[in-house]
Amino acid sequence: TRKEVEEAMRRSNAAARDDVQTLRKVSRREYLKKREQKKLDQLRDDIEDEQYLFEGLKLSETEQSEFRYKKEIYGLVKKRSEEADDVNGYRMPEAYDQEGGIDQEKRFSVALKRHRDRSTEEKTIPFAEQESWEDYQTGKAKLMFGSKDQRKLSDSYEFVFDDQIDFIKESVMDGDQFHEQDIANSLVEKYKAKCNLEALQEERKKLPIYNYRDELLKAIHDHQVLVIVGETGSGKTTQIPQYLHEAGYTKRGKIACTQPRRVAALSIAARVSREMGVKLGHEVGYSIRFEDCTSERTLLKYMTDGMLLRELLSEPDLSSYSVVMVDEAHERTLSTDILFGLVKDIARFRPNFKLLISSATLDAEKFSDYFDSAPIFKIPGRRYPVEIHHTKAPEADYLDAAVVTALQIHVTQPPGNILVFLTGQEEIETVEEMLKHRISGLGTKIAELIICPIYANLPTELQAKIFVPTPKGARKVVVATNIAETSLTIDGIKYVIDTGFCKMKSYNPRTGTESLLITPISKASAKQRAGRSGRTGPGKCFRLYTADSYHRELDNNTVPEIQRTNLANVVLSLKCLGINDLLHFDFMDPPPVGALLKAVELLYALGALNKLGQLTKVGRSMAELPLDPMSSKAIVASDKYKCSDDMISIAAMLFVGNSIFHRPKEKKVHADNARSNFHAGNVGDHIALLKVYNSWKETDYSSQWCYENYVQVRSMKRARDIRDQLAGRLERIEIELTSNANDLDAIKKSIISGYFPHSAQLRINGSYRTVKNRLTVHIHPSSGMAQLLPRWIIYHELVLTTKEYMRQVTELKPEWLVEIAPHYYQLKD
Ligand code: ADP
Ligand code: MG
Repeated sequence: TRKEVEEAMRRSNAAARDDVQTLRKVSRREYLKKREQKKLDQLRDDIEDEQYLFEGLKLSETEQSEFRYKKEIYGLVKKRSEEADDVNGYRMPEAYDQEGGIDQEKRFSVALKRHRDRSTEEKTIPFAEQESWEDYQTGKAKLMFGSKDQRKLSDSYEFVFDDQIDFIKESVMDGDQFHEQDIANSLVEKYKAKCNLEALQEERKKLPIYNYRDELLKAIHDHQVLVIVGETGSGKTTQIPQYLHEAGYTKRGKIACTQPRRVAALSIAARVSREMGVKLGHEVGYSIRFEDCTSERTLLKYMTDGMLLRELLSEPDLSSYSVVMVDEAHERTLSTDILFGLVKDIARFRPNFKLLISSATLDAEKFSDYFDSAPIFKIPGRRYPVEIHHTKAPEADYLDAAVVTALQIHVTQPPGNILVFLTGQEEIETVEEMLKHRISGLGTKIAELIICPIYANLPTELQAKIFVPTPKGARKVVVATNIAETSLTIDGIKYVIDTGFCKMKSYNPRTGTESLLITPISKASAKQRAGRSGRTGPGKCFRLYTADSYHRELDNNTVPEIQRTNLANVVLSLKCLGINDLLHFDFMDPPPVGALLKAVELLYALGALNKLGQLTKVGRSMAELPLDPMSSKAIVASDKYKCSDDMISIAAMLFVGNSIFHRPKEKKVHADNARSNFHAGNVGDHIALLKVYNSWKETDYSSQWCYENYVQVRSMKRARDIRDQLAGRLERIEIELTSNANDLDAIKKSIISGYFPHSAQLRINGSYRTVKNRLTVHIHPSSGMAQLLPRWIIYHELVLTTKEYMRQVTELKPEWLVEIAPHYYQLKD
């Protein structure tokens, strides 16, 4: 009964106090020895006691997880003591032995502190478990002595936060049936798992999909097109391609598995190559834009949906593939939607070709209907109940609210990692900084919190960090974009913090402008996000918005990208594939006709299509370049101005975007000075980017140079990679590499050949008006032209923040517009 449990707890706490007394009396060795033995005995007793209770009683979720935690620690400690034949085998941190002469207790705490400071070396230092166990014991005492309703730890931590956020529990999202014992077992199992091949093989067998392996293979054998549905984390992405390989499908051709996001393609390929025990890029590879990690022997190819679309251009029947798996189909990205139409057609004339459509949502009927009533294969997944909490009142600043909530969870909730959903890199970096700042203010009052960011442009080395198991006693907080919604499964997440927003592209077909806006998510997304907390055990989701806004303000589903984006690129690809009748293409959800017409209009203006809407030679060359049509056109046109070498550098730098310059808070002035050097002569942002690239190249790509000039090395390296690839493509479209760096007008004209629709004229009040659509716009403050305000300019892109801003701006002469695009601009007489 509860009384008995409380009594047991009281006893164990009294014992812990005794230990501290003992510490004062006995030598370090003695102490450790005793302590070790005592802890083992006590843990064993506790577990035996509770095992009994566990089976006899329906325990609350908190109690269950406490029990599991204890059991896990018991296992660890036991193993450790078995490994060391004697407690003397323990090694104290070096620092300890150097601090001779101070009394035992002080030494002990010094060692502990050192250990805390070196948290990353946790595994090699014997105090780790002990310490976490102690924290746990202290925490538990507080937990247990309150009445049931006050069992939050918050009382004792009130001094930590003066800005708590109140949540109200709104509902519980039901999970499937499960046995508590299974959870305990799986935890113990997991702890045992080592990172070797056999362990990985064992792990594979534990995935929900494993039990359906043979059935699934039979279904794939029997049907040409199959829709596969299963919870995130059930093993679809990592396992199905391997099963197909094991079943011999790779004898007939490669297996493609498409992902909407580059990070997902890359990290999953890495995982699968490890599971198969092969080197990444050999049998298992990935292909994302500007990065091809495959070889002749590649059999399983993880790729972005956009890359498969590009491959279709050179291999319209995908004959080198035996199976295509369109994964994460529910995301409905533009490329996925276009692929649907194309692979459906391929399946009709290639009887040997297998098509799998896999999705995380249960709403699969729509896919089945579209693919001529293809059968649906459901993988029953494990799903535990998730408690949904909403804020009582709307939160004005969701970043701050997310930080406070994360810390609140950290100090009041039982072990389990936290996943925070934000909208993009900038927010993630802000939250990371805020968290670090607040944690450092708390010192050792709280357990270690490991912060792991994840977003599309995160450097690969850092991405791996989210999959590293959390050391005992610490807690991990993963701060992610909606990449973590379904594409990536991160284990051990028990708490989800949902800000309720994501970044979404929106397109205005009237003006042809596209913007990335922070938008409320849909109910479907909110459910997916909450579900991430209930994968390995019961979870909790904290929504930073009210229940009322959830019900009233969120749409049911996210609008597919095809209905809110610029279609110029897609239209160009489809035209290349010989699909001329765009209005009757087999779209799952057709795009707005206005958006299609706008795309055709732009391609015509760029010279990619002729008056009859047919692809021109220029258009074909443009399609060879993996860039948007305007950039591609600027490069194709650079042949005429003899500056292709300069133009691909500019295009690569533009592609890398606004992460080139680095502006640390404390050195803003230095950074701005360094930057203004590149703008000398008011050459404009495009040429300034070229100068940055060339100067870096002259120093033989030196990192030191980047550092001195407040330029980010990583962005520059990426630009170099992209440039190299573009150079390779130029060869294919027979454009010679020529540099014309002394004739800046030639380079500007080449840019204008692609970007002439983006011209704007200064107005009296310092704002600009775009020539074509008469939009009022402003030069972005980061531009070198911001103070100069030339009369006529051309811009790379519009971004909407507080105002509609133009980013990357260069001055032009209006007669150039008439010279370069006479069909688009005429002189007023
Ligand atoms: P699904 O596609 O059904 O969502 P996955 O095949 O992506 O499921 O994931 C199955 C399991 O594989 C996850 O639960 C996770 O444990 C593991 N996993 C997937 N990707 C990685 C990775 N990059 N690193 C480590 N483990 C991974
Ligand atoms: Mg998946």
